[in-house]
Amino acid sequence: MSGTAVRATRRRAAISALLENVDEFRSAQELHDELRRSGEGIGLTTVYRTLQSMAASGAVDTLRTDNGESVYRRCSEHHHHHHLVCRTCGSTVEVEGAAAEQWAAEVAKAHGFTDVSHTIEIFGLCADCGPSVS
Ligand SMILES: [Zn+2]
Ligand SMILES: [Zn+2]
Ligand SMILES: [Zn+2]
Repeated sequence: MSGTAVRATRRRAAISALLENVDEFRSAQELHDELRRSGEGIGLTTVYRTLQSMAASGAVDTLRTDNGESVYRRCSEHHHHHHLVCRTCGSTVEVEGAAAEQWAAEVAKAHGFTDVSHTIEIFGLCADCGPSVS
């Protein structure tokens, strides 16, 4: 393996290891800050590119928050699923959406689309961050 490939593998390992310890979705910037604190001198652009390639290969989940920022997380579920994400603390629940799957398949079929995919994320306030119900 060339030196460049070794470095790329090492960076990926460092980012993977960090994601293992994080439960919430985090932006590339936040993960970059964490890596710097732990002494990994990886540039923000590299962190961002590595996350994108890990997301493309399914090694991490990615989604766009409702203010348009891409965030990343290693999910415990490896099959297709959806997320409920707290806008305040970022806590995330992985959810199934059988009705959504059926709806997506029907809509695609009705319009003659094949090989379809979708992402659906639900944002809100978690039980800890929302107004307390008494
Ligand atoms: Zn997930
Ligand atoms: Zn919350
Ligand atoms: Zn789905």
